[in-house]
Amino acid sequence: MFSADVLKRFDLNGPRYTSYPTADRFAAHFRPDDYARALRTMQHRPASLYVHVPFCRSLCYYCACNKIISKSATIADEYLDLLARETTLVNSHTGTLPIAQIAFGGGTPNFLSIAQLQRLMAGLAGKFDLLPEREQGIELDPRFLDAAYVAALPALGFNRVSYGVQDFDQQVQTLIHRFQTFEQTASAVEAARTVGISSVSFDLVYGLPIQSRESFAATLERVLSLEPDRLALFNYAHIPERFKAQRRIPTETLPSIQQRTELFLYATERLVDAGYQTIGLDHFAKPGDPLAKALADGSLRRNFQGYSTHHATDLVGLGVSAISHLNGVFAQNSPQLDVYRDRVSHDQFATVRGVALNRDDKIRSTVIEQIMCTGRVDWSEIAAMFAIDPSSYFAETQDAIEQFASVGIVTQSPRELIVTPQGRLLLRAVAMVFDKYKHAKREQTITFSRIA
Ligand code: SF4
Repeated sequence: MFSADVLKRFDLNGPRYTSYPTADRFAAHFRPDDYARALRTMQHRPASLYVHVPFCRSLCYYCACNKIISKSATIADEYLDLLARETTLVNSHTGTLPIAQIAFGGGTPNFLSIAQLQRLMAGLAGKFDLLPEREQGIELDPRFLDAAYVAALPALGFNRVSYGVQDFDQQVQTLIHRFQTFEQTASAVEAARTVGISSVSFDLVYGLPIQSRESFAATLERVLSLEPDRLALFNYAHIPERFKAQRRIPTETLPSIQQRTELFLYATERLVDAGYQTIGLDHFAKPGDPLAKALADGSLRRNFQGYSTHHATDLVGLGVSAISHLNGVFAQNSPQLDVYRDRVSHDQFATVRGVALNRDDKIRSTVIEQIMCTGRVDWSEIAAMFAIDPSSYFAETQDAIEQFASVGIVTQSPRELIVTPQGRLLLRAVAMVFDKYKHAKREQTITFSRIA
């Protein structure tokens, strides 16, 4: 393992690069018309949909997602009306797009009742061509779920579920205000398997208050006993000045950077021992899983859900704060329900920020995606793809890369840059070397999903 000095020297908490440029670089001068133009000129090829459901029943203090805490029964119906209008608006620009992948995220998508999910799916099916072989996943909160709910999902096209788990230790749960028993999670997994849902994944978080190696190891063993097909291991980023709920977590209860690193390395080792394959930075999959296959055949991609097996499909985002990525642009909807409602109910897009990628962005985006997916950049591929000489194009990165090489984080040759197995922990820091905007002033951040 790297010494504390080495870990301090490099930024472990750089962006997760689910996009490049990162969402905090999207510009406010990107307007709804820019998004409409990008939609109109989209190619008619299979695309992905992301639907954001912002509502949650209870506040988790560590949360960095765009969410609205509510107990209202009618708030979701009104939101579904807005999603239907936004879907119609998209359709008026794109025609009936074929859809190969759908992801529901939040917030808590199972805030919606099954009747509401049925209505939402019917609305999507009326305006898009939902391909029968599509992947369709949903993030579910096991605390508010029963077997009947899960049993209704396959008929609506869902074949993947993702459960938030965090930590089973009761003291940790008290400090993060998320009370979720092992039994609730186990029942949710059993319910999914009983109805033939082909993929169950878990989101785990390390670096939470008072988490120790012993407590996290106990959680991990219980998680492994449920045999999820995939796991994501997110690092809790404590940024109370940005995320108000995090102010309720006492800073002194948080593990040090050294302790967090140990938690990550321990978990990685244990998961690999248990037969999981490491995918990019912080995802793990069983060897037969499509993510593992995509890693092996080079088709693994980075996107807002983490990693994806779908190559080059455009992404249309629907709902509050949702991000679309198509035709060389990123466009993000307002994170405020009021603004979203006001715009969409007047049949206008709720786009408030975005960016049109220039040629340099596309080159850097490809390099960063290769680092985040495979930990390897093949310079001859980059040269052929963009007709550039990478050694001169990226000459300014050489000093930083040599520093990484000097402590064993990367190895390099004229042909390739490789992040070493132990350097994987610093994948974000290596990717950041190629980020042209890393020193530029940030626009206000709008969070989108999961952990910052
Ligand atoms: S962590 Fe998930 S369930 Fe908890 S408040 Fe955030 S979005 Fe809602």
